[in-house]
Amino acid sequence: MTRDSDEEQRDDDLADATVLAQAGHTPDPATGALVPALHMSTTFGRDSENELIGDYMYARHQSPTVEHAERLLARLDRGTDAMLFASGLAAVAAIFETVESGGHVVAPTIMYHGAQNWLRRIESRGRIDLTLFDATDPSGLAEALRIGETSVVWIESPVNPTWDVIDIRAAADLAHEAGAILVADCTVAPPITTRALDLGADLVFHSATKYLNGHSDILAGVLITPEANELWEELRSVRMLTGGVLGAHDAWMLVRGMRTLPLRFERACKSALQIARHLEGHPRLEAVLYPGLESHPGHEVARRQMTHGFGGLLSIRVKGGPTEALEVIRRVRVFVPATSLGGVESLIEHRASVEGPDSEVPPDLLRLSIGIEDPADLITDLDQALSGD
Ligand SMILES: *Cc1c(COP(=O)(O)O)cnc(C)c1O
Repeated sequence: MTRDSDEEQRDDDLADATVLAQAGHTPDPATGALVPALHMSTTFGRDSENELIGDYMYARHQSPTVEHAERLLARLDRGTDAMLFASGLAAVAAIFETVESGGHVVAPTIMYHGAQNWLRRIESRGRIDLTLFDATDPSGLAEALRIGETSVVWIESPVNPTWDVIDIRAAADLAHEAGAILVADCTVAPPITTRALDLGADLVFHSATKYLNGHSDILAGVLITPEANELWEELRSVRMLTGGVLGAHDAWMLVRGMRTLPLRFERACKSALQIARHLEGHPRLEAVLYPGLESHPGHEVARRQMTHGFGGLLSIRVKGGPTEALEVIRRVRVFVPATSLGGVESLIEHRASVEGPDSEVPPDLLRLSIGIEDPADLITDLDQALSGD
C-alpha cells in the first residue's frame, strides 16, 4: 500500500477539523517536516528511459503543492477531485467555456456581481443564451428552465448580498428534470456548513479567496466534482489550455489558511448571529438580513442546508437611503470599509455604489463580513456608527 492510500484510509475516520489542523499531512518521510513542502518547480524531470520521474510534467498541467491543496478541498466537500484556479472568476469562466455555443444558462437575478457580469458579457457576444430568475420567487427557477435545452443552472446560496437562501436539493432536482447540470457557488457557505454535492449539485464552486483561505492575502478559486466524468476532463483541459491555474505559493498559502478554517468559521458564525440579533429592530434600520434569524424568509431551508452555522455575512438596510447608509460607513472605527468577505477582519461595504447603475441591490443596503475580532467591539462600533450623534 502506498503512503497516499494509507493516509486516505486514516483520513476517512477523522473529522475535518483534525485533518485540516494537520494540513492533511503526516510528517514528510523524506525530511520529517510537519509543514507541507512548497514545490516551486514549473517543470519536472525525466529518467534515462525518458519517462517522467514523478507524476508531474509541467505546472500548467499539475504540480505537487497545488495537488495537495486540491486533495484537502475534495475531501472537505466529499468530492472525488478538486481543481484550483488563479481566482474564483477564472474557475467561473472555465465552467462557461465548456457550454456549447448558444447553450442555455440559467442564473439568479441577484448573485455575485462579477460572475453575473461575465455571464452578461458572453451572452452579449452570442456565446450563450442567458435567463435570469428571481430567487425569492418559489417558481422562478422552474419557469426559467427549458426542458431538454438548458445546459447549466448556476445558483449561489446564500445569495450575495441579500442572503436569500436557495434550496440546493430542490434546485438540483429541477435542473436534472430539465436535463441540465447544477453548479452551486458555496463561497459564503463553506463545506464546514454546507456540502452541496451531498445535496445533488453536479459541481461545487468556491472563491477560495474568501473563507477557505480566510486571511485576505491570496486569490484562488476551486471546483469540486463528485466523479471524474467527461465534464471534469473537459474542465481540466480548459484550465490547462487557458492557463488559469493557481500558483504553487498561493496553493501553499491556501493550505496554511485552511488549517484554521473550522475555528475561524465557527467564530464568525457565532459573532454574526449575535450581531444580527442585537441589530434586529434597531430604530435606524429598515431590515437586518441574516439567514440565522428566525424572521428571515429562508431560515427553515438554511437550518436544513447550513448544518454548522449560518455564516459570517449579514446585511443591514439603513432607514433613509444611500446617504444615510454611506454615513454609517463614514462613522465606523473597527469595521474596515473595504470589499471582499470571509477574512479574519470585519469589513463593511455599500454594494450598490460598488456594483454601479445596473445593480439590483437595494441602495440603502450595507454588507457586513464578520471577522474573528471580539464581538463586543464590533457591536459597540455598529451602535456608535448607527447612533448618528
Ligand atoms: C468573491 C466571490 C467570487 C469571485 O471570486 P474571486 O476569487 O474574487 O475571483 C464568486 N462568488 C462569490 C459568492 C464571491 O464572494
